[in-house]
Amino acid sequence: MKVFIVLAHPEHQSFNGAMYRAAVEALSAAGHEVKTSDLYAMQFDPVSSRHNFITVKDPDYFKQQIEELHASENYGFAEEIEREIQKIEWCDLMIWQFPLWWFGLPGILKGWVDRVFAMGRTYGGGRIYADGVFKGKRAMLSLTTGGPSTAYEKGGFNGDITAILRPIHRGILQFTGFDVLAPQIAYGPVRLEQSERVTLLASYTDRLKTIASEQPLDVGIY
Ligand SMILES: Cc1cc2nc3c(=O)[nH]c(=O)nc-3n(C[C@H](O)[C@H](O)[C@H](O)COP(=O)(O)OP(=O)(O)OC[C@H]3O[C@@H](n4cnc5c(N)ncnc54)[C@H](O)[C@@H]3O)c2cc1C
Repeated sequence: MKVFIVLAHPEHQSFNGAMYRAAVEALSAAGHEVKTSDLYAMQFDPVSSRHNFITVKDPDYFKQQIEELHASENYGFAEEIEREIQKIEWCDLMIWQFPLWWFGLPGILKGWVDRVFAMGRTYGGGRIYADGVFKGKRAMLSLTTGGPSTAYEKGGFNGDITAILRPIHRGILQFTGFDVLAPQIAYGPVRLEQSERVTLLASYTDRLKTIASEQPLDVGIY
């Protein structure tokens, strides 16, 4: 299996960093091919603008999706965007490793999506959801939180984690055709004992050993 892992955390020694390295090692050891994008290490610029492109459709009015369509037809993506699109096109499984920030993706990862998931190349012309461009590929969110698991249950003070993740699962991943695997969630690693964190890392690497045969989630429309 070809696996593409995206890491969005500014600190290499963080628990996210540990989850990322554990995944790279476990998947490689299991014989999978792994490609990565460590967005902070790459100093990936999350701000979308004309520098997404080497082509120009309309020099007078910048409309991103129009430029994306034009770039899709004219090999017009900037190299840093083209490289990321090609990694997505290459993989069978994509994993995003990130801390939950304000109930969502860290800005650098959201900006990566804004720039890389380009119309024409990754969706559009009716190629969405079940007919999406990335049909046949799978994706998984691997995230950490500050809050404990009880805060993210139905009725917990933050509310159901499934609902919090739905805009990412449905609005980005399924929209572009991915099947979504159950998220890997490390709740409040900073609150845990060292031994509990070690156990979390071990259970993640265990899961990764058989991830090639995991069935996707039914995220559903609700
Ligand atoms: C802008 C912002 C917004 C936020 N919004 C939210 C939110 O909406 N909801 C929410 O719940 N939280 C939120 N948080 C908190 C955030 O989600 C957590 O701080 C983060 O998920 C914790 O993960 P980390 O990788 O940063 O942990 P770290 O603090 O880096 O690590 C936790 C512990 O793990 C240890 N560790 C590292 N490597 C290993 C290893 N190999 N083995 C064992 N232990 C190890 C570290 O030493 C540390 O003690 C927010 C934080 C910020 C900055």
